[in-house]
Amino acid sequence: MKPNLIILSAPSGGGKTTIANALAAARNDIAFSVSATTRPMREGEKEGIDYYFLSQAEFDRRVEDGDFLEHAVYGEHCYGTLEAAVDEILASGRHAILDIEVQGAAIVRQRRSDVVSIFILPPTARDLADRLGGRKTEGPSELGRRLRAAIEELKEATAYDFVVTNVDIVQAVAEVASIIDSEARRTDRIGNLEQHLEELSSGLEEEAARLSAE
Ligand code: 5GP
Repeated sequence: MKPNLIILSAPSGGGKTTIANALAAARNDIAFSVSATTRPMREGEKEGIDYYFLSQAEFDRRVEDGDFLEHAVYGEHCYGTLEAAVDEILASGRHAILDIEVQGAAIVRQRRSDVVSIFILPPTARDLADRLGGRKTEGPSELGRRLRAAIEELKEATAYDFVVTNVDIVQAVAEVASIIDSEARRTDRIGNLEQHLEELSSGLEEEAARLSAE
């Protein structure tokens, strides 16, 4: 099986980070690609686990060095996918999950062919507002800004391969997992398929010869 690059996008509060973390925790064939950001660390976050937290100067230097598969500005901060992080995961045979916003997703889709993109929708507008408010990581003005940003982000949802509505987190995780598994079974994603089919065919030749000799 050739691993895929799985993009998960959603408006802020849509649950994509929870889904990505749940999948990476539950399965050893899926790993979370840790992004770099200039945003300050939130309570409970860890360097190298949630993000690589960089100064603006460090981020700019890594842009110049060509370290990012994509990078984008979201709110007042820069975010970027480190190409080496993604390639390391794929080289180990695992699917790489990218929790990124819509501009970055568009760039990755242009640059790579091994992409499966999934947009996570909230069941209702109120639901998203409540989830974002409940998180208590942003102040009221930031909350309003993120909800308005969500309107813009929804416009990009049709560019994705799949849409999953996050009514229930357990169900949403299962739906995303089933998309990942189905995509991995595409004929062009199965490694050595031709060789496997040839071996099976020669085995069948032998079986046919054995049976007709009986
Ligand atoms: P947050 O600050 O809430 O962690 O993330 C804000 C937004 O940035 C989210 O939509 C998240 O998916 C997105 N994001 C996180 N990492 C990256 C990245 O590497 N590239 C891009 N383009 N967006 C990212």
